[in-house]
Amino acid sequence: MQEKIHQIAVTTQTPVDASCPSAINLMGLDRAAMEAFFVDLGEKPFRATQVLKWIHQLGVNDFSEMTNLSKQLRQSLSESCEIRVPDIVSDELSKDGTRKWLLSVPGKSAIEMVFIPEESRGTLCVSSQVGCTLNCSFCATGKQGYNRDLTTAEIIGQVWIAKHLLAAQYQTDDRIISNVVMMGMGEPLLNFENVVSAMHMMQDDFCFGLSKRRITLSTAGVVPKIDALKESCPVSLAVSLHAPNDELRNELVPLNKKYPIADLLAACNRYVEDSARSRITFEYVMLQGVNDELAHAHQLAVLMKQVPSKVNLIPFNTFEGIDYTRSSNSRINRFRDVLHENGVIVTVRKTRGDDIGAACGQLAGDVMDRTRRAEKFKQQQNKIYTKFTQKFGKM
Ligand code: SAH
Repeated sequence: MQEKIHQIAVTTQTPVDASCPSAINLMGLDRAAMEAFFVDLGEKPFRATQVLKWIHQLGVNDFSEMTNLSKQLRQSLSESCEIRVPDIVSDELSKDGTRKWLLSVPGKSAIEMVFIPEESRGTLCVSSQVGCTLNCSFCATGKQGYNRDLTTAEIIGQVWIAKHLLAAQYQTDDRIISNVVMMGMGEPLLNFENVVSAMHMMQDDFCFGLSKRRITLSTAGVVPKIDALKESCPVSLAVSLHAPNDELRNELVPLNKKYPIADLLAACNRYVEDSARSRITFEYVMLQGVNDELAHAHQLAVLMKQVPSKVNLIPFNTFEGIDYTRSSNSRINRFRDVLHENGVIVTVRKTRGDDIGAACGQLAGDVMDRTRRAEKFKQQQNKIYTKFTQKFGKM
């Protein structure tokens, strides 16, 4: 394990019950909701854009600083509303510049968020749920079980926190976050309303002003919601495929039993139909001896001919208690070459931030599990360990 090079800051959190349960959290209101809120108060709708700018562009979370609102309005907002984001539990910087935050949310749980700086862009990876219900066999979040969906405020609040902390780190207000990927903890399409509302705010010129091409939602393949996403917020789409046939995908991504590959690809085709969005990204985690044979690459190439697509091969990132191993570089390259020779656009994802557990699939947060899955996972690992030690002696 490499050493963390730098622990940036650990702020003490506000106790969870410090928030006033009856206060309306304006952090979670997108433009439409904010306008409705001010009209309800008997105010003009343009108050919405004023307040959105204060909150999201200027990072103000104290009503008394909103000087273009009347004193009376500021006073009444501070009595009945709050501007609240998750609390920061830890903040770590990797050797390669990747920065990871652990954020606590009400319900005694924590989620993770990651910023990945690259030469030409800065990508923020945002969580959508506390844990995940899908239980993909190679994913750390899945092993933690599921607690609850994040609210819109908790999703957009991640972008808010990152934007303002990164401005301090990089000493500039320039657009440090150029891209947002909904690829953190959770399945974003199973928290549809809140995720869509947060993505509207990412795009809103009065909030973060990102173009929809610069926002990517990654899904394990919730077919009906792919259609719904096209209607309400057609951002770039990434699909976690990970296997080129149903038999293997049922094992790796159990959601496949509900929405098999043919249905998923049909939904992907509907998503790109009549739209400027040219292709879907298919993510494929490289698991040694599981899904990385040449035959798999050939099968995958056949599937990829059916949809405007590109493939992103993700070297598996390991975590404690998991049996899979990462495919060797030579196997990954061979796999990539077969796809390439068959006319598939393919890239290999560079692993970033693995020294601080910030790489793809390593986000575990701290999930108070309502499904008891985490407990079962631990018990299962203990059983395997006991069997192993009975056979081979203690490690
Ligand atoms: N639920 C969504 C988004 C979360 S995960 C989805 O399934 O797409 C983001 C990506 O990381 C997914 O492609 C996921 O399958 C992948 N991933 C999960 N665990 C991983 C691991 N241990 N190593 C590499 N990639 C992983």
